Amino acid sequence: MAGRQEKGLAVHLVSLGCAKNLVDSERLLGEAARALRARVCASPEEADLVMVNTCAFIAAAQEEAVAAIFELKSRMRPGARLAVLGCLPALHGGELARELPEADLVMPAGGYAAFPGRLRELFAGAPGDPDAAGGGGGPGAAAGAGAAPGTGSGAVRSAGGGSVAPGSPAPPSAARTPDAPFESWERAREGTPRFRSFLKIAEGCGRRCTYCLIPSIRGPLAPVPLDALVREAGSLSASGALELTLVAQDLTAWRDGGKDLGHLCRALSEIGGIRWIRPMYLHPEALGRSLVLELRDNPKVVPYLDVPFQHASPRILRAMGRGRTRPLEVVDMIRRAWPEAAVRTTLMTGFPGETEEDFRLLASFVEEARLDHIGFFKFSPEEGTPAARMGGAVSRGTAERRRRALSALQRRVSRELNRARVGSVAEILVEGPSEDAPEVACGRGAFQAPDADGLVYFDGEQPEAGSMVLARILKAGDYDLTAELVGSGRGDGGAGEARGSRGGGNRVKIGGAGRAGGAGKAGGPGKAGCPGRAGTGPGSGGPVPKGTGKDSAPAAARGRDASRTAGGAG
Ligand code: SF4
Repeated sequence: MAGRQEKGLAVHLVSLGCAKNLVDSERLLGEAARALRARVCASPEEADLVMVNTCAFIAAAQEEAVAAIFELKSRMRPGARLAVLGCLPALHGGELARELPEADLVMPAGGYAAFPGRLRELFAGAPGDPDAAGGGGGPGAAAGAGAAPGTGSGAVRSAGGGSVAPGSPAPPSAARTPDAPFESWERAREGTPRFRSFLKIAEGCGRRCTYCLIPSIRGPLAPVPLDALVREAGSLSASGALELTLVAQDLTAWRDGGKDLGHLCRALSEIGGIRWIRPMYLHPEALGRSLVLELRDNPKVVPYLDVPFQHASPRILRAMGRGRTRPLEVVDMIRRAWPEAAVRTTLMTGFPGETEEDFRLLASFVEEARLDHIGFFKFSPEEGTPAARMGGAVSRGTAERRRRALSALQRRVSRELNRARVGSVAEILVEGPSEDAPEVACGRGAFQAPDADGLVYFDGEQPEAGSMVLARILKAGDYDLTAELVGSGRGDGGAGEARGSRGGGNRVKIGGAGRAGGAGKAGGPGKAGCPGRAGTGPGSGGPVPKGTGKDSAPAAARGRDASRTAGGAG
């Protein structure tokens, strides 16, 4: 006991689900470390407090969350507390607390105002209680004093992220009022490498797609104000972020007074250290040509548009509540306005009433649109949604057969598009050593989103994690690429410098960010080809063995819940 009191409390968090949940996890972990003056630890076995930030987007995610809770409980030492947070409590309310006596604290997403106080109550008088210990908390008290809460790599384990190496810079001072709103809680960014971060620009969703539980879990649309986002982005940049991936359920809905997403990107692009801005989840119905042009004309916005179409049959899109958008027309508009932009989407098979003719339209869309990246997933009837009550159910077998057929079509398209890149030089943000072959570094071009798309593996000289480099594409796989280092990158859409001419000034190195392991789920470590990649689905492969060009499908293309992988229902 005395030993624990001397060392102070330790907290551990497992983040399930999408990138938006990961942002919440980082806030919860940072706040727990601050409120308890605790250190962040890398395993549940050594923690006094284990937190699970759950996803409940579909039934499979709910089952995964429950399995994670039981598995963590079995690994916790006696006397440690378990907190179940996020979407599962939001969906099930007080009922969950009754059905989960294993949990010491159950709190829904959106209801975190009392979180720090409840944590302090939970540990009042317990061994290591910071107040009982005279407020010092021992060596582990550093987080509460404004030092980095994270003291070990892999402290946050995420289905969609890696972790930051020990010794990463601390977030700004923790000094603030105890009742500061959740959005202003400091993030303990153990879930993603220091050189990239997600920025959540809104909570909830104002749409009502008939298959989607998210509005009932996360509530109506609540955009984060512009000045708060600029402040947070500045803080992320100060701690080393080069790439900001903007996430929300529907980015096109973001507003602050008369300002829209284009204004927001312009304001963010004025932050000096930020090199790439990547807006995800652009609802096709609201993505007009003027917004595409505005994004195109911002030199820091990467040429990459994520537009979740979900289907291509007008009849099914209407039944989904996705408006009257014609996906091929939207793709055509994008290609005319911004020909360089890579386009990503998600598509669903097996929606109620989907006929062979609807499926044929969907397959034609995949062939004709020739999109860079597509995530496929099967319809899941979620209790409480209108779609779950619709007639015309499609069997799971048929939905799976259709999903596989589309996936095979897209594999061919993706391979052809990748082959067209061979010989070109691209700017790559280096994620770090590959998980299965640490001697091989991997990274992403502007045309590849973190935790969603394929990767670029390096042959020959290996660049450092966190550097932006120029690489010549040597080989193409179905989803991944192999490249050789040719110089440093500028990271702002510019040409960078060829090898031999650079003075080293543009090559950004983030100190100490080595191998960023730890991606995985509570049920066991996920197999990630690269630190930046969520690779837990069946068929998940490792990195490209040096020079072979062999690759595995990115998470989204492997047919796991791609919308979660990519971070939203869209
Ligand atoms: S699918 Fe996306 S846009 Fe539609 S209700 Fe769900 S979160 Fe909102």
